[in-house]
Amino acid sequence: EKVFFGNKIIDRDEASFSFDDRSMYFGDGVYEVIRVYGGHPYKMERHFRRLQRSADELDIPYADEEKQALEKAVYELIAANQLDEGFVYMQLSRGIAARDHLYDRHTEPFSFAFTQEMQTPKKQQAEGIAVYLTEDIRWLRCDIKTVNLLGNVLAKRQAADHDCAEAIQHRGDTVTEGSSTNLFIVKNNQLQTHPANHLILNGITRQLVIELAEESGYTVSFTPFTTEALLEADEAFITSTTNEITPVTEVRGTKHGTLDIGPVTSRLQEMLQADIETTRHG
Ligand code: PLP
Repeated sequence: EKVFFGNKIIDRDEASFSFDDRSMYFGDGVYEVIRVYGGHPYKMERHFRRLQRSADELDIPYADEEKQALEKAVYELIAANQLDEGFVYMQLSRGIAARDHLYDRHTEPFSFAFTQEMQTPKKQQAEGIAVYLTEDIRWLRCDIKTVNLLGNVLAKRQAADHDCAEAIQHRGDTVTEGSSTNLFIVKNNQLQTHPANHLILNGITRQLVIELAEESGYTVSFTPFTTEALLEADEAFITSTTNEITPVTEVRGTKHGTLDIGPVTSRLQEMLQADIETTRHG
């Protein structure tokens, strides 16, 4: 299996990481996950734009050559590893330097990428999942896709401990997002999701769903909503690159309730699948 590592395509076994990489000490790096369907990357440009934004917000140098090398690596890795269905993970760290909170603006960033096979979680998409409500303890720049994911991983563990497939985080009463997904609710044929501000990651799938919903005449409201509104919704679903659109059928935690899989969720799932199919056979 090949990986992209320090600007070269090498065997995975040959890649060894310096413990002086700033992503090790400080989580000082950013990343992206790009889904691959039938050997073709899906919405790659949007992911690269978000990587650029994440790097810019953290003052991590991300030159055009770096971007070009990573873009090239996506295609090279898919080919070298004969990846059909899966994803490409890529990470850009501020680079290697002796441990010091104060970063130097002149360290060279370090990037790597690997591929992984995966199948669409069809069963979850058809049957829905249970989610676990948990307080959002993360920092206030959740809009940056950094490798610093402690709040997210703790939330995910809590969800699993309660037999839930995903955590739904809330700040006080206000629902923000999942541990690695965004959340939508549907009430009276209107969609609602947290605004894309500093409290959530503006998911690429979230953006696609908003576009598809608006195209088919649904209104989307970007007013934050409460955990109570989630329980009282007609439908709810999570979105992400790997989950696509997955219905929420049960809520556990401080509040409990069940939800049905509704027509709006199903319609959006079909529309997204149709778009994915054009990539898969493109
Ligand atoms: N929110 C968080 C915290 C995430 O980590 C992710 C993706 O990993 C998402 C939302 C969904 O984003 P996307 O649709 O771009 O995968």
